[in-house]
Amino acid sequence: MLQLSGIQHFRFCPRQWALIHIEQQWNENQLTIQGQFLHRHADDSSYRQKQGEIVTLRSVPLASSSLGLNGIADIIELHPAPSAHNAITHPNYPGFWFPVPIEYKHGRPKHDYIDEVQLAAQAICLEEQYQIAIPRGFIYYGTTHHRLTVDFTPDLRQAVAETAHQMHQAFNQGSTPPPSPGPHCRKCSIADICVPYIFNCPRPSYYLAKNLLQ
Ligand code: SF4
Repeated sequence: MLQLSGIQHFRFCPRQWALIHIEQQWNENQLTIQGQFLHRHADDSSYRQKQGEIVTLRSVPLASSSLGLNGIADIIELHPAPSAHNAITHPNYPGFWFPVPIEYKHGRPKHDYIDEVQLAAQAICLEEQYQIAIPRGFIYYGTTHHRLTVDFTPDLRQAVAETAHQMHQAFNQGSTPPPSPGPHCRKCSIADICVPYIFNCPRPSYYLAKNLLQ
């Protein structure tokens, strides 16, 4: 099994994923600290709360054998269900419930669907674990204080399956891909470890010939 959280790293940059999940490298930057700050209340697995009709569970373990991924969901909300059909039960809350995955992100909605793919992966885990269908979830963005509704469409599910497959292929090969430098590197906390522009540097033989051997 690979880490569910790795799916966002892999979609962001396969080299970043390999450095973190194969080579066990890590560094903090402003964005990762902000992310931890936003998640600080979401990481308490003992926390449960019922507000009105909705139960909030935090730090929920997830796994999918079809994806070969496991990990932790920030928040799963339980919405009341009228019957056992496509619903689950909870030992502390009588009745039937629809589980709805919720992800917390700093920043604002992006154009690359990384956050949506990560959330859909959580939904697929829940569907496998409870043999139910989950049509949608929500992403809460810290900058906009806005909940984005994410429908788990066939295309989004396909993107999850393809990403998980590529992650396993890369993990089995055990090699870290070369950097693909770009504007995204500015957000990368492990850029100092990656050194993304190193392959743009002249070869040492060129440097020696140009500066020392003339
Ligand atoms: S610095 Fe750029 S290429 Fe290197 S791991 Fe980070 S995002 Fe990927």
